[in-house]
Amino acid sequence: MENFIKDIDIIAPEEAQACDFKTTEEENTGKSKKLYIESYGCQMNFSDSEIVASIMKENGFDTTSDFEQADVIFLNTCSIREKAEQTVRKRLNQFNSVKKNKPELTIGVLGCMAERLKEKLLEEEKIVDVVVGPDAYRDLPSLVSSAEEGNKGVNTFLSREETYADISPVRLNSNGVSAFISIMRGCDNMCSFCVVPFTRGRERSRDPYSIVNEARQLFQNGFREVTLLGQNVDSYKWSPEENNKARLNKKEEVVSKVVNFAHLLEMVAQVNPLLRVRFSTSHPKDITDEVLYTMKKYDNICKYIHLPVQSGNSRVLELMNRTYDREWYLDRVRAIREILGEECGISSDMIAGFCTETEEEHQDTLTLMDIVKYDFSYMFYYSERPGTLAAKKYIDDIPLETKKRRLAEIIDKQTSLSLERNKLDIGKIQEILIEGTSKRSENQLKGRNSANKVVIIPNQDYKKGDYVKVRIVDCSAATLFGEVFPN
Ligand code: SAM
Ligand code: SF4
Repeated sequence: MENFIKDIDIIAPEEAQACDFKTTEEENTGKSKKLYIESYGCQMNFSDSEIVASIMKENGFDTTSDFEQADVIFLNTCSIREKAEQTVRKRLNQFNSVKKNKPELTIGVLGCMAERLKEKLLEEEKIVDVVVGPDAYRDLPSLVSSAEEGNKGVNTFLSREETYADISPVRLNSNGVSAFISIMRGCDNMCSFCVVPFTRGRERSRDPYSIVNEARQLFQNGFREVTLLGQNVDSYKWSPEENNKARLNKKEEVVSKVVNFAHLLEMVAQVNPLLRVRFSTSHPKDITDEVLYTMKKYDNICKYIHLPVQSGNSRVLELMNRTYDREWYLDRVRAIREILGEECGISSDMIAGFCTETEEEHQDTLTLMDIVKYDFSYMFYYSERPGTLAAKKYIDDIPLETKKRRLAEIIDKQTSLSLERNKLDIGKIQEILIEGTSKRSENQLKGRNSANKVVIIPNQDYKKGDYVKVRIVDCSAATLFGEVFPN
């Protein structure tokens, strides 16, 4: 087991800011054209690419993993940090050289950058033929056909109702066991650092019955885990008459029924006890005890909450317009521990070096981490985004070196907390869901426990989608190692 210890994952600050992307896979069902999608950013974006692939599939496209074979290339982009946008711009230049030898190739920019930069992309990056925002994907086939005829196509209209509820996503990069289900779109919060409300529009909740149907179909197709996705899932609110949150709040007394997130969670949990249910992201101001008690009531709702704090200091939180303070956040963590116990996994997002943050205020983030003892965190340094409230109101005054040093301190703290939390699992018996063989060796299987931790076990006669009882025998900061129980 000792050899496992060496794979402790310590993330360098540069890596923590780096941009992951996913691409489409090869699919040949005999369609006449090939589509290549490269997706950047958050899980919502990866999930949107599955909707895009579904729309394009209906319109004569198979997917490809090789952009040189493609008739159409889409970059589904992210604007959350400057680095993400730079990566996409570099990639567009690479595609430019392909287009020089293949002028009939159509290149499209989708997602948040499309929304933020609109015509600027068409005018400046001359190789872009199509620019489509996150609410206009139904228009893609017609925009692509008009691009094929030489007309540039742009639709960045932000809808107040669109949820793509009726579209069955084509599962991309799927392990066949876990799938993501989008339950809402947009965000009505105005965190001062964040570009999302401007690029993804107002908050809308998807019809719960279409969500349950999608979960049921996934289960019938062999999937054993769904993650319900939204920028702020605890704010989910739907009625048959109105799915737009702001409008629904105004006419709540006159609608026939309201489904909130706790109700939705229960409806999905009841699809089948063998279907695990996860969700992300929870906003600390919105997560209710009703949600925590629903999690407790159902064994198949995983005991894991992604609860981004961003900063441990109340003044900084106010500048960030997060609408809660340190005490409120710690009270929510207390409620999680009281209702769901010590074993419930908690993770966070953290931003180092927000405008005017002092050394003492940065220390408050580190002490809050010590109190909560996060299992895992996504950690960033502040990147000013044009058009956001912070860009308009505050000076981005923390030098890059200081931001990087504070981020490195946060990452160090998280690495030791992850190890401390993982060590508590040693000796425990846990149920894991097998996702496949481990990346490192065919002789090991990779599964996940309820708290969302990866557990590696020796490869025995199990297959993807099996539930296996294991005893945890060792750990690193990133991984648990187990053996099949009884053993
Ligand atoms: N809706 C989620 C929430 O409220 O926690 C988060 C959505 S955002 C896509 C993911 C994370 O990116 C945020 O939690 C934040 O930590 C980080 N982020 C957003 N804007 C940022 C910025 N301007 N600079 C650095 N990190 C940022
Ligand atoms: Fe951005 Fe805040 Fe909305 Fe999350 S809740 S998407 S951080 S505005």
